Amino acid sequence: MIVDYHMHTARCGHADGSVEDMVEAAIDKGLRQVGIADHAPMLYADVPMLAMSPDELPSYVDEVLQAKEKYRGRIEVRLGIEADYHAPTQGERVSMIELYPFDYVIGSVHVLGDWIFDNPADVGRYEDIDLDDFYVEYIHTVREMAESGFYNIVGHPDLVKKFDKRAAINLIPRYRELLEAVKRAGMCYEVNTAGLRWPAREIYPEPAFVHLAAEIGVPVTFGSDAHCPEDVARDFDQALALVRGAGYREVATFQGRIMSCVPLPEGQPPDEHGHDDQGGDE
Ligand SMILES: [Zn+2]
Ligand SMILES: [Zn+2]
Repeated sequence: MIVDYHMHTARCGHADGSVEDMVEAAIDKGLRQVGIADHAPMLYADVPMLAMSPDELPSYVDEVLQAKEKYRGRIEVRLGIEADYHAPTQGERVSMIELYPFDYVIGSVHVLGDWIFDNPADVGRYEDIDLDDFYVEYIHTVREMAESGFYNIVGHPDLVKKFDKRAAINLIPRYRELLEAVKRAGMCYEVNTAGLRWPAREIYPEPAFVHLAAEIGVPVTFGSDAHCPEDVARDFDQALALVRGAGYREVATFQGRIMSCVPLPEGQPPDEHGHDDQGGDE
């Protein structure tokens, strides 16, 4: 089996499609299980173009739970959410998310200091920083996210490469520390195909990370980070080839925040449609 555990809906302000549109796209792609994981309220900023507001969270949950019932027998729908890790607002975030019966929480670092570094509107700030230091700070923050013990899945583990601004230093020792923390936390990470649609032109995370994670024994799951129905399960042939090539034979799935690993498909992954790049962030 293969799953797509990372997709957004119009509720986040920069995606097209309802929960049902995304689930139906997943059915069309031949998936048997799918997870919606829209952007949780940010709490550190109020930007309607980047995430739902706190008062929209209950209706988001209701909409996904209704889809779970509606599509029962055709596809299993999981209730997920993509939540930032942002230390100053973390208590508020945990209290907010724990109110609902999520199947999994994707932990993503999109903000460092006051910079939402994956927002295309703020890409100019890459000119003012030391990329090596920035990568080290990012990886350290992702490790803090894992050590917080709240999350299930590391979202797009090397999102810092999104605009193809690359560090020069060897990141492998940092990845190893991060992955050991992810393993201790009982989490998995996602292979996220959205990196192919941005200047990085590479799946998140890079192949070296996937191979190291396989060696350390950290489970993996899959996400398209689709912001429109056309991108559901997009480029999963490449994701599956990467994961299999690293030696994985199973995919991590979640129900009620509990992980279970199931065998990857032996045959071909779901079909692909070519599609133009989408704007917006991840
Ligand atoms: Zn994201
Ligand atoms: Zn997004």
